Amino acid sequence: MKKILTCPVCQSTNIIKKFDVKDYFLTQENFSIWQCKSCGLLFTNPIPKGQNLGKYYESPDYLSHDTSSSGVIGKLYQFLRKINIARKYKIITNLKNSGNILDIGCGTGELLNYFQNQNWSCLGIEPNEPARKFAKAHYNLKVEEEQSLETIPSQSFDIISMWHVLEHVPDVNERIIQVKRILKNNGHLIIALPNPISRDSNYYKTYWAGLDVPRHLYHFSPQAFENLANRHNLEIIHTLPLKMDAYYVSLLSERYMKNTMPVFRALLNGTKSNLSAKKTGNYSSLIYVLNKK
Ligand SMILES: [Zn+2]
Repeated sequence: MKKILTCPVCQSTNIIKKFDVKDYFLTQENFSIWQCKSCGLLFTNPIPKGQNLGKYYESPDYLSHDTSSSGVIGKLYQFLRKINIARKYKIITNLKNSGNILDIGCGTGELLNYFQNQNWSCLGIEPNEPARKFAKAHYNLKVEEEQSLETIPSQSFDIISMWHVLEHVPDVNERIIQVKRILKNNGHLIIALPNPISRDSNYYKTYWAGLDVPRHLYHFSPQAFENLANRHNLEIIHTLPLKMDAYYVSLLSERYMKNTMPVFRALLNGTKSNLSAKKTGNYSSLIYVLNKK
């Protein structure tokens, strides 16, 4: 394990431990969430060292890459994914109605396939090899490993998207610098993240599935994310909800708590979260649309 001594975003040494949390999803190991007093970022500490990070993704249930539909959660996930894809497509085509898109962490490629079918030029980046192979074989997509980011020419994409990806990336500043380089000057960067100050997070506390330690290395509140954007001269032009995530995250959290009637409770708490966020803006997950300044 690697103990983190300075804030991963602003490098401040003014950091404090907030609470302990378990990897309920896979290993049942304990981690802690710390906060930077300078920029507000919450981050997982300690984190697995680079070469050991992979084992925390080694689950047949890792849903980002799950294409089977066994069980209630798998079925619900597929249903939500279809709705989410249509919504993501609409958000992006409201910004630009054609062009090229780079989706970092494209998983098995369902979103890119949707764009490809609408005559967008598509490139995916995906570290998981089986997911990469699936996307190539089933959708005839161009999908490369993470290292390929370095060889993509500067200012070459209209849209770069990272849907629930940035919270997994070991060097967050380096990644933002990289995508900003690749983005056209009039392009748009889309970053979706779980929101640790949502109602469902406040309700489930350490059981909140949006924490997902140690796979999630950072937990960006809207303010902490804005600080990151400012630091890199990026302007947030829209902040939009991913309402379906409230239900999905609630269902996982209910399972971690081993509650009875998890589906019913998740529907209730997901709805409560979305209703509360109508007033506060703090949805379970938020989509940030950014432009270069
Ligand atoms: Zn900081």
